[in-house]
Amino acid sequence: MPVPYTVLDERFRRVTLGTATLETLWTGGRWLEGPAYFAAGRYLVWSDIPNNRILRWDETDGSVSVFRQPSHNANGHTVDREGRLVSCEHQTRAISRIEIDGSRTVLVDRVGGVRLNSPNDVIVKSDGTIWFSDPTYGIDSDYEGDAAVSEIGASHVYRYDPASQTCAAVTSDFVKPNGLAFSPDERHLYIADTGATHVRGGPHHIRRFAVGSDGQTLSGGEVFATCDAGLFDGFRFDAHGNLWTSAGDGVHCYAPDGVLLGKISVPEGVANLCFGGPKRNRLFICATTSLYAIYVNAQGCRRP
Ligand code: MG
Repeated sequence: MPVPYTVLDERFRRVTLGTATLETLWTGGRWLEGPAYFAAGRYLVWSDIPNNRILRWDETDGSVSVFRQPSHNANGHTVDREGRLVSCEHQTRAISRIEIDGSRTVLVDRVGGVRLNSPNDVIVKSDGTIWFSDPTYGIDSDYEGDAAVSEIGASHVYRYDPASQTCAAVTSDFVKPNGLAFSPDERHLYIADTGATHVRGGPHHIRRFAVGSDGQTLSGGEVFATCDAGLFDGFRFDAHGNLWTSAGDGVHCYAPDGVLLGKISVPEGVANLCFGGPKRNRLFICATTSLYAIYVNAQGCRRP
Protein backbone atom coordinates (compact mmCIF):
# COMPACT_ATOMS: atom_id res chain seq x y z
CA MET A 1 0.00 0.00 0.00
CA PRO A 2 1.29 3.52 -0.68
CA VAL A 3 2.76 5.40 2.23
CA PRO A 4 1.09 8.61 3.28
CA TYR A 5 4.03 10.54 4.65
CA THR A 6 3.38 13.73 6.55
CA VAL A 7 6.45 15.93 6.19
CA LEU A 8 6.57 18.55 8.94
CA ASP A 9 10.25 19.40 8.60
CA GLU A 10 12.38 19.06 5.45
CA ARG A 11 14.84 16.86 7.35
CA PHE A 12 12.20 14.11 7.27
CA ARG A 13 12.71 13.70 3.51
CA ARG A 14 16.34 12.72 4.10
CA VAL A 15 15.47 9.87 6.46
CA THR A 16 12.61 8.41 4.45
CA LEU A 17 12.32 6.94 0.95
CA GLY A 18 9.78 8.41 -1.43
CA THR A 19 9.27 5.14 -3.28
CA ALA A 20 9.13 2.84 -0.25
CA THR A 21 5.74 1.40 0.57
CA LEU A 22 4.22 0.19 3.79
CA GLU A 23 4.06 -3.59 3.59
CA THR A 24 1.75 -5.83 5.59
CA LEU A 25 3.83 -8.83 6.63
CA TRP A 26 1.22 -10.58 8.73
CA THR A 27 -2.19 -10.04 10.28
CA GLY A 28 -4.43 -11.97 12.65
CA GLY A 29 -3.31 -11.02 16.15
CA ARG A 30 -5.12 -9.25 18.96
CA TRP A 31 -2.56 -6.84 20.36
CA LEU A 32 0.92 -6.95 18.90
CA GLU A 33 3.95 -5.68 20.78
CA GLY A 34 7.65 -6.17 21.34
CA PRO A 35 9.36 -6.63 17.95
CA ALA A 36 12.98 -7.83 18.17
CA TYR A 37 15.15 -8.59 15.15
CA PHE A 38 17.79 -11.34 15.20
CA ALA A 39 20.40 -10.42 12.61
CA ALA A 40 22.23 -13.75 12.86
CA GLY A 41 19.09 -15.77 12.17
CA ARG A 42 17.43 -13.26 9.87
CA TYR A 43 14.12 -13.38 11.70
CA LEU A 44 11.90 -11.17 13.78
CA VAL A 45 10.00 -12.18 16.89
CA TRP A 46 7.13 -10.26 18.43
CA SER A 47 4.36 -10.69 20.97
CA ASP A 48 0.64 -11.25 20.50
CA ILE A 49 -0.08 -10.53 24.14
CA PRO A 50 -3.76 -11.55 24.62
CA ASN A 51 -3.21 -14.71 22.58
CA ASN A 52 -0.36 -15.66 24.90
CA ARG A 53 2.15 -16.28 22.12
CA ILE A 54 5.34 -15.04 20.55
CA LEU A 55 5.40 -15.17 16.76
CA ARG A 56 8.34 -15.40 14.39
CA TRP A 57 8.66 -13.96 10.88
CA ASP A 58 11.36 -15.54 8.73
CA GLU A 59 13.09 -12.99 6.52
CA THR A 60 14.33 -15.64 4.11
CA ASP A 61 10.88 -16.77 2.95
CA GLY A 62 8.35 -14.51 4.67
CA SER A 63 6.75 -17.33 6.61
CA VAL A 64 5.28 -16.78 10.06
CA SER A 65 5.14 -19.40 12.78
CA VAL A 66 4.54 -19.64 16.51
CA PHE A 67 7.86 -19.18 18.28
CA ARG A 68 6.67 -19.78 21.83
CA GLN A 69 3.25 -20.58 23.30
CA PRO A 70 2.31 -20.09 26.05
CA SER A 71 4.46 -17.01 26.28
CA HIS A 72 3.37 -16.01 29.78
CA ASN A 73 1.71 -13.08 28.03
CA ALA A 74 5.09 -11.71 26.99
CA ASN A 75 5.17 -8.05 25.97
CA GLY A 76 8.40 -6.20 25.12
CA HIS A 77 11.59 -7.94 24.00
CA THR A 78 15.15 -7.09 23.22
CA VAL A 79 18.26 -8.94 22.07
CA ASP A 80 21.16 -8.72 24.49
CA ARG A 81 24.78 -8.35 23.49
CA GLU A 82 25.26 -12.13 23.52
CA GLY A 83 22.37 -12.55 21.08
CA ARG A 84 19.88 -13.86 23.62
CA LEU A 85 16.20 -12.94 23.77
CA VAL A 86 15.32 -10.93 26.88
CA SER A 87 11.57 -10.63 27.51
CA CYS A 88 8.99 -8.91 29.67
CA GLU A 89 6.34 -11.33 30.89
CA HIS A 90 3.01 -10.13 32.24
CA GLN A 91 1.74 -13.40 33.67
CA THR A 92 4.85 -14.29 35.64
CA ARG A 93 5.48 -10.59 36.32
CA ALA A 94 9.08 -11.20 35.38
CA ILE A 95 12.01 -10.49 33.09
CA SER A 96 13.15 -13.69 31.44
CA ARG A 97 15.94 -14.72 29.08
CA ILE A 98 16.18 -17.53 26.54
CA GLU A 99 19.63 -19.05 26.86
CA ILE A 100 21.79 -20.30 24.01
CA ASP A 101 20.60 -23.87 24.68
CA GLY A 102 16.93 -22.79 24.45
CA SER A 103 16.16 -22.96 28.14
CA ARG A 104 14.36 -20.10 29.87
CA THR A 105 15.75 -18.29 32.89
CA VAL A 106 13.72 -15.95 35.08
CA LEU A 107 16.13 -13.11 35.81
CA VAL A 108 14.02 -10.97 38.11
CA ASP A 109 10.42 -11.02 39.32
CA ARG A 110 10.71 -9.22 42.66
CA VAL A 111 12.28 -6.16 44.08
CA GLY A 112 12.82 -5.86 47.82
CA GLY A 113 10.94 -9.15 48.24
CA VAL A 114 7.82 -7.75 46.58
CA ARG A 115 6.47 -8.91 43.21
CA LEU A 116 6.84 -6.64 40.22
CA ASN A 117 3.65 -5.40 38.52
CA SER A 118 4.00 -6.59 34.93
CA PRO A 119 7.20 -5.66 33.06
CA ASN A 120 6.31 -3.95 29.79
CA ASP A 121 9.39 -3.02 27.81
CA VAL A 122 13.09 -3.76 28.16
CA ILE A 123 16.48 -2.65 26.87
CA VAL A 124 20.06 -3.75 27.53
CA LYS A 125 22.80 -1.20 28.08
CA SER A 126 26.28 -1.76 26.68
CA ASP A 127 27.50 -2.70 30.19
CA GLY A 128 25.05 -5.62 30.19
CA THR A 129 22.59 -4.12 32.65
CA ILE A 130 18.90 -4.61 31.89
CA TRP A 131 16.53 -1.64 32.17
CA PHE A 132 12.78 -2.17 32.12
CA SER A 133 9.48 -0.44 32.78
CA ASP A 134 6.91 -1.92 35.15
CA PRO A 135 3.42 -0.45 34.75
CA THR A 136 0.27 -2.36 35.72
CA TYR A 137 -1.23 -3.15 32.31
CA GLY A 138 -0.59 -6.88 32.70
CA ILE A 139 -2.37 -7.10 36.08
CA ASP A 140 -5.16 -4.61 35.41
CA SER A 141 -7.33 -7.34 33.86
CA ASP A 142 -7.28 -10.97 32.81
CA TYR A 143 -6.93 -9.99 29.15
CA GLU A 144 -3.16 -9.45 28.98
CA GLY A 145 -2.16 -11.51 32.02
CA ASP A 146 -3.69 -12.40 35.38
CA ALA A 147 -5.60 -9.68 37.22
CA ALA A 148 -4.03 -8.78 40.54
CA VAL A 149 -3.44 -5.90 42.89
CA SER A 150 -0.08 -4.18 42.63
CA GLU A 151 2.14 -5.16 45.52
CA ILE A 152 4.42 -2.21 44.92
CA GLY A 153 1.57 0.27 44.63
CA ALA A 154 3.41 2.33 42.04
CA SER A 155 4.93 1.97 38.57
CA HIS A 156 8.64 2.49 38.17
CA VAL A 157 11.54 1.88 35.79
CA TYR A 158 14.18 -0.51 37.11
CA ARG A 159 17.81 -1.32 36.45
CA TYR A 160 18.75 -4.96 36.88
CA ASP A 161 22.41 -5.93 37.05
CA PRO A 162 22.88 -9.59 36.04
CA ALA A 163 26.41 -9.60 37.50
CA SER A 164 25.29 -8.78 41.04
CA GLN A 165 21.68 -9.92 40.54
CA THR A 166 20.48 -6.68 42.08
CA CYS A 167 17.50 -4.67 40.97
CA ALA A 168 16.67 -1.09 41.91
CA ALA A 169 14.23 1.59 40.79
CA VAL A 170 15.75 4.42 38.78
CA THR A 171 12.56 6.52 38.55
CA SER A 172 9.81 7.24 41.04
CA ASP A 173 7.52 9.83 39.43
CA PHE A 174 5.88 8.07 36.48
CA VAL A 175 2.20 7.23 36.21
CA LYS A 176 2.67 4.37 33.71
CA PRO A 177 6.23 4.08 32.36
CA ASN A 178 6.26 2.22 29.07
CA GLY A 179 8.68 2.27 26.11
CA LEU A 180 12.29 3.20 26.78
CA ALA A 181 15.54 3.60 24.86
CA PHE A 182 19.03 4.97 25.31
CA SER A 183 20.35 7.59 22.94
CA PRO A 184 23.04 6.13 20.64
CA ASP A 185 25.81 7.44 22.94
CA GLU A 186 23.93 6.19 26.05
CA ARG A 187 24.28 9.57 27.70
CA HIS A 188 20.51 9.93 27.84
CA LEU A 189 17.63 7.61 28.62
CA TYR A 190 14.22 8.32 27.13
CA ILE A 191 11.08 6.89 28.75
CA ALA A 192 7.46 7.08 27.60
CA ASP A 193 4.68 7.67 30.12
CA THR A 194 1.27 6.36 29.00
CA GLY A 195 -0.45 7.45 32.20
CA ALA A 196 -3.32 8.95 30.20
CA THR A 197 -4.78 5.43 30.05
CA HIS A 198 -5.51 5.67 33.77
CA VAL A 199 -5.65 9.40 34.52
CA ARG A 200 -7.88 11.73 32.52
CA GLY A 201 -5.58 14.25 30.87
CA GLY A 202 -2.62 12.30 32.24
CA PRO A 203 0.83 11.87 30.73
CA HIS A 204 1.11 11.04 27.04
CA HIS A 205 4.70 11.98 26.46
CA ILE A 206 8.34 10.89 26.35
CA ARG A 207 10.75 12.20 28.97
CA ARG A 208 14.49 12.59 28.67
CA PHE A 209 16.95 11.81 31.48
CA ALA A 210 20.69 12.36 31.69
CA VAL A 211 22.60 9.23 32.68
CA GLY A 212 25.18 9.93 35.38
CA SER A 213 28.88 9.20 35.01
CA ASP A 214 28.32 6.10 37.15
CA GLY A 215 26.19 4.75 34.31
CA GLN A 216 23.20 4.11 36.52
CA THR A 217 21.76 7.23 38.15
CA LEU A 218 19.38 9.52 36.30
CA SER A 219 18.82 13.26 36.47
CA GLY A 220 16.64 15.71 34.61
CA GLY A 221 13.56 14.07 33.21
CA GLU A 222 12.08 16.92 31.24
CA VAL A 223 9.35 16.24 28.69
CA PHE A 224 11.02 15.64 25.31
CA ALA A 225 7.88 15.18 23.18
CA THR A 226 4.13 15.14 23.75
CA CYS A 227 2.00 12.88 21.58
CA ASP A 228 -0.63 14.63 19.44
CA ALA A 229 -2.32 11.38 18.37
CA GLY A 230 -2.99 8.85 21.09
CA LEU A 231 -0.01 7.62 23.06
CA PHE A 232 3.68 6.95 22.59
CA ASP A 233 4.38 3.34 23.52
CA GLY A 234 7.60 1.69 22.29
CA PHE A 235 10.30 3.55 20.31
CA ARG A 236 13.83 3.26 18.94
CA PHE A 237 16.71 5.52 17.87
CA ASP A 238 18.44 5.56 14.54
CA ALA A 239 22.22 5.94 14.34
CA HIS A 240 21.95 9.71 14.02
CA GLY A 241 19.88 10.10 17.14
CA ASN A 242 16.49 10.54 15.54
CA LEU A 243 13.74 8.99 17.67
CA TRP A 244 11.18 6.83 15.83
CA THR A 245 8.17 6.20 17.98
CA SER A 246 4.84 4.44 17.97
CA ALA A 247 1.71 6.60 18.11
CA GLY A 248 -2.01 6.23 17.64
CA ASP A 249 -1.92 7.21 13.97
CA GLY A 250 1.33 5.56 12.92
CA VAL A 251 5.03 6.28 13.38
CA HIS A 252 6.35 9.69 14.45
CA CYS A 253 9.97 10.73 13.92
CA TYR A 254 11.69 13.29 16.17
CA ALA A 255 15.05 14.96 15.61
CA PRO A 256 17.54 14.99 18.50
CA ASP A 257 16.52 18.60 19.16
CA GLY A 258 12.94 17.49 19.84
CA VAL A 259 11.42 18.74 16.57
CA LEU A 260 8.74 16.47 15.13
CA LEU A 261 10.08 15.84 11.62
CA GLY A 262 7.19 13.87 10.21
CA LYS A 263 4.89 10.91 10.40
CA ILE A 264 4.31 7.64 8.58
CA SER A 265 0.61 6.82 8.60
CA VAL A 266 -0.29 3.25 9.54
CA PRO A 267 -3.85 1.89 9.23
CA GLU A 268 -3.90 0.64 12.84
CA GLY A 269 -2.68 2.08 16.10
CA VAL A 270 1.02 1.35 16.61
CA ALA A 271 2.34 -0.07 19.89
CA ASN A 272 5.99 -0.66 19.11
CA LEU A 273 8.63 -0.85 16.40
CA CYS A 274 12.25 -1.79 15.79
CA PHE A 275 14.88 -1.55 13.10
CA GLY A 276 16.01 -4.70 11.35
CA GLY A 277 17.14 -6.33 8.15
CA PRO A 278 20.77 -6.93 7.10
CA LYS A 279 21.31 -3.16 6.81
CA ARG A 280 19.13 -2.28 9.82
CA ASN A 281 17.25 0.12 7.55
CA ARG A 282 13.84 -1.50 7.73
CA LEU A 283 11.28 -0.54 10.34
CA PHE A 284 9.19 -3.40 11.70
CA ILE A 285 5.96 -2.08 13.12
CA CYS A 286 3.62 -3.85 15.56
CA ALA A 287 0.21 -2.25 15.05
CA THR A 288 -2.77 -3.71 16.93
CA THR A 289 -3.61 -6.82 14.84
CA SER A 290 -0.91 -6.64 12.14
CA LEU A 291 2.81 -6.57 11.54
CA TYR A 292 3.94 -3.96 9.02
CA ALA A 293 7.34 -3.02 7.61
CA ILE A 294 8.80 -0.15 5.65
CA TYR A 295 12.29 0.68 4.43
CA VAL A 296 13.64 4.05 5.54
CA ASN A 297 16.78 6.02 4.73
CA ALA A 298 18.13 5.58 8.25
CA GLN A 299 19.76 2.78 10.17
CA GLY A 300 18.91 1.64 13.66
CA CYS A 301 21.68 2.30 16.12
CA ARG A 302 23.76 -0.80 16.65
CA ARG A 303 22.40 -1.59 20.05
CA PRO A 304 18.94 -3.22 19.70
MG1 MG B 1 4.80 -1.05 25.75
